[in-house]
Amino acid sequence: MRDRFWERFDLEELTPEEWEALCDGCGQCCLLKFQDEESGDLAVLNVACRLLDIHGCRCSDYEHRFAKVPDCAQLTPARIEEFRWLPKSCAYRRLAEGRKLAGWHPLICGDPERVHRKGISVRGFAVSQGEVPEEELEDHIIAILPIDG
Ligand code: SF4
Ligand code: SF4
Repeated sequence: MRDRFWERFDLEELTPEEWEALCDGCGQCCLLKFQDEESGDLAVLNVACRLLDIHGCRCSDYEHRFAKVPDCAQLTPARIEEFRWLPKSCAYRRLAEGRKLAGWHPLICGDPERVHRKGISVRGFAVSQGEVPEEELEDHIIAILPIDG
């Protein structure tokens, strides 16, 4: 990867390896969401996709994720504008908005555990989809995000 690529190149110019390295491993985008059809607002749950490793906050089958979870959203440079639901902490959103990476980001601090110690990741509160019956999902809403949020 090129030296401090995240400061020197636009998202569209990143190599696939650099693009993947931008993910801070917070797991927040793997929390389940419901969308209100009228307002477009998103309800975010503390329930994570069944493929998320709750402790590591990484997809347990990243290579086959689209086959196993058809509604898994692929983040690409061309679609970054659509991903307003990403947390403000997300590295892709930060760079797309012209902000810098946070000091706790693994690329900055060199420590992939810091995102967990700082409470940015879902490690401390997420439960797996497999542990929550469908009819109880609504009880797990933790935030409502306006569509432009
Ligand atoms: S929210 Fe962003 S930084 Fe966090 S896991 Fe998802 S893509 Fe990676
Ligand atoms: S399939 Fe993997 S990347 Fe997609 S939402 Fe689930 S855990 Fe996240």
